[in-house]
Amino acid sequence: MTAAGTRGAGLGGALLKPRVGAAPEVFVRGEGVDLIAADGRRVLDACSGVGVTCLGHTAPSVVARMAEQAAALPYVHALRFETPPLLELAERVVERAPEGIDRALFVSGGSEAVETAIKLARQYWLERGRPDKWRVVGCRPSYHGNTLATLSAGWHERRRVRHAPLLLDFAHVPAPDSYRGCERCQSDTGCTAACADALDELLVELGPETFSCFLIEPVAGAAGGATVPPAGYLERIREICDRHEILLVADETITGFGRTGRWFGVDWSDARPDAITFGKGISGGFAPLAGIGVSESIAEAFIDGSGRFEHNFTMSGQAIACAVGCAVIEELESQRLVEQVARRESALRASLETLLELDVVGDVRGRGYLFAVELVADRASKRHFDPSLRVAERAASTTLEEGAVVYYGGGGISRSGDFLLVMPPFTTPVDRFDELAASIRRGLLRLTSELAA
Ligand code: PMP
Repeated sequence: MTAAGTRGAGLGGALLKPRVGAAPEVFVRGEGVDLIAADGRRVLDACSGVGVTCLGHTAPSVVARMAEQAAALPYVHALRFETPPLLELAERVVERAPEGIDRALFVSGGSEAVETAIKLARQYWLERGRPDKWRVVGCRPSYHGNTLATLSAGWHERRRVRHAPLLLDFAHVPAPDSYRGCERCQSDTGCTAACADALDELLVELGPETFSCFLIEPVAGAAGGATVPPAGYLERIREICDRHEILLVADETITGFGRTGRWFGVDWSDARPDAITFGKGISGGFAPLAGIGVSESIAEAFIDGSGRFEHNFTMSGQAIACAVGCAVIEELESQRLVEQVARRESALRASLETLLELDVVGDVRGRGYLFAVELVADRASKRHFDPSLRVAERAASTTLEEGAVVYYGGGGISRSGDFLLVMPPFTTPVDRFDELAASIRRGLLRLTSELAA
């Protein structure tokens, strides 16, 4: 390897990775909520990687627990055997999960978790003697992962387009949209709970007897841009799922483990899902860890039926990853970080809302520490930028140059426009929110002058 120092120069030649634009920065260390680049430059990680490093980059108790487990026993095949951290993590997750989630299973990432949920819903109906119930309904836009099945279930236009035709004949309803209204209502003031009826209409049209489950993000993340569903929406969805006998699966990959200021995103509603998927935050970024949780009645169908869920990955329930999950939950609890996110949401929101002074910012929205700043070509008409300008991606780059890491999305994904995603670690000192907003402001000002030139 050549000497690190300049941005990626000489590095990464052997790496197969989707590369866009300039060579990426090489980061060599994390300190608290800061990232230190190879050339010594320090930036604020305002995105927790991508909604992952909820404790920041320094967590000695997690590191100690990892080392302890690695020394004791790193791996057994969890399909056949168990380890203390696997059993402990299942208990810890179920204790904090939404009421009615009684069993947990662990995998390595969010896509695996959603893929697992899709297979579980299909086998569940098979065990119940209803093999025709296999299709999935998802939202458009939404993001549930990058495998072919999860891309089919979600609707992330940019990530789907080069992989068409997708594998499975899944269906989609318009996702709730608080800024432009969904495709169904197109209301300038955003969706209401009545927009949930799109699911009812679709099931009636296509035949609920062919569907196994409905997948929804409690707050939309990568594709929808931190869109919070309207009050009563998830409850109405629950009622429709019950009426048509399809399972409600909440994809909590981003929202789970405190990101929205409660343990799970659905905890903001009275709706209780049949299954949840989770990932990202539970790992704190220290190990690949995700999972799914299901109700006892789903588990019973397997126990009473064939006796097994025909599904496993080699690394499912890996012992060090499970030890990490236990240590992360312990930190979230001992530092009362979930409550802190709820308490400090207003401070983050206030800092980000100062960006509404810029003409290019159309909307600031979110919940907890999951926020989006939507960028528009014209604020009055909410007109999108031309997707070929890649405005959000460029804004994330100029913001990085101005000192903060944020993520980006949109740009031609269905009705959602370009947006920056802001997901700070839960440990971010509150006085750094203004610094974060100032970095975004300078990044956007640089970008708008580039666009004007
Ligand atoms: N579901 C949701 C809601 C997500 O946000 C993501 C990742 N952004 C995934 C699934 C896929 O997770 P992973 O990238 O860990 O496979």
